[in-house]
Amino acid sequence: MSEAKPYRVSGDTGEWEVVIGLEVHAQVISNAKLFSGAATAFGAEPNTQVSFVDAAFPGMLPVINRECVAQAVRTGLGLNAEINLVSVFDRKNYFYADLPAGYQISQYSRPVVGKGTILLDMPDGTTREVGITRLHLEQDAGKSLHDQHPAKSLIDLNRAGVALMEIVSEPDMRSPEEAGAYLRKLRTILRYLGTCDGNMEEGSMRCDVNVSVRKPGEGFRTRCEVKNVNSVRFVMQAIEVEALRQVRVWEEGGAVEQETRLYDANKGQTRSMRSKEHAHDYRYFPDPDLLPLVLDPAWVEELKRGLPELPDARKARYMRDFGLSAYDAGVLVLEQETAAYYEAVAKGRDAKLAANWVMGDLFAALNKTGRSIENSPVSAGNLGRLLDLMADNTISGRIAKQVFETMIEAGTDPDPAAIVEAEGLRQVTDTGAIEAAVDAVMAKNADKVAEYRSGKDKLFGFFVGQVMKAMAGKGNPALVNDVLKKKLS
Ligand code: ADP
Ligand code: MG
Repeated sequence: MSEAKPYRVSGDTGEWEVVIGLEVHAQVISNAKLFSGAATAFGAEPNTQVSFVDAAFPGMLPVINRECVAQAVRTGLGLNAEINLVSVFDRKNYFYADLPAGYQISQYSRPVVGKGTILLDMPDGTTREVGITRLHLEQDAGKSLHDQHPAKSLIDLNRAGVALMEIVSEPDMRSPEEAGAYLRKLRTILRYLGTCDGNMEEGSMRCDVNVSVRKPGEGFRTRCEVKNVNSVRFVMQAIEVEALRQVRVWEEGGAVEQETRLYDANKGQTRSMRSKEHAHDYRYFPDPDLLPLVLDPAWVEELKRGLPELPDARKARYMRDFGLSAYDAGVLVLEQETAAYYEAVAKGRDAKLAANWVMGDLFAALNKTGRSIENSPVSAGNLGRLLDLMADNTISGRIAKQVFETMIEAGTDPDPAAIVEAEGLRQVTDTGAIEAAVDAVMAKNADKVAEYRSGKDKLFGFFVGQVMKAMAGKGNPALVNDVLKKKLS
């Protein structure tokens, strides 16, 4: 582990350090809501997935959904966190039109998951550890629709009662890049676990960004919270502009007020939304309709045994077993689909070469065609076969690139061996044919041969190029080199 180059904001009074803590709301993958049996499918007709509990009809009682608790525990385990065998649901009281009960059921002083850690993979291949403070379960609110009627706001309660995990980090991040790496890593872990789809655009992962600035070496100063930022890029931008704003406030002799702000991506600035509300404003108290949540340690163990191999373990395995760099391994494990594809190509083959092809040629082709790896026009099986054709010297690396292009363009996932046969691309390993080509090139370039022999070694590359050209790229490169060396000397 190493400290990344420190990120600093410079002001009139010198350099400032930025302190960041993130609160992420992650929508739990579950067919039913946290305390009711209503469905949770995205994009349903308004108010078609609402039970009496979600609509807060008088006398309705919440019933905890075991699967939502299991998802929170799995997530806690995936974040190397303490699982609290006893936790408590509280009422967080506030008034809003999309909250019919007048309170949200959440966890306050006793969350289901306690302290944990997450490892950030930085672009330079280093890692940084960030503390997780807690993870608690809570209900989502409904949605107010202000654009459906000229004079009225409408309410859709489909989302009311859907389970959320609020994942709170320690104020351990020091740059927009680290905050970006945190969100990407958290998303990867949630997707591996299958506990949240991590889709920020659809709102299934939302982020509140806490930012403060300080002189290096100082204690923490007052923070501001930028609410509901909905993409990794905007989180990074919001930190940058909010830090700059705070530096100006301090340097002008003012004091940063603790408050909730909004990021306006169009204007590239944050603006005040409301002064910070405090815990006592919500009158938290244990929900009398719910017993404390008590977990059986054996059940937690069972969930632990059921966890998949997580990205850090997979990355370590790629570095150890496949000899990949930290950076390459980190990129390949980012999405499970990519990792599975890569492993299928690498199995029983040159694993580094496989990584180069997947991250180089394949990623470029997917980018160009706008496809994801699940819909890759070339399957892992056929990319593997292409590597085999190189390994057994049927084709050279250069011809392999050409065959790959043809495979991508075909779009029907053709067998590379068939393309090699149909287009006559087999590598020429017949020494006689190579010698003939070398002789012809030397005869045509007698002047260059003389220069080479009088010491101009650099011309060797020129001869290789000419012979390859004469053989339409199909000469075996090693043999071409050998024959040339022999004949030129
Ligand atoms: P609240 O309940 O008021 O939101 P929390 O204690 O839950 O307060 O903290 C919320 C977030 O603020 C956490 O992610 C924490 O890491 C972050 N945080 C706390 N102090 C600071 C600070 N001085 N600068 C930046 N972030 C901070
Ligand atoms: Mg908070």
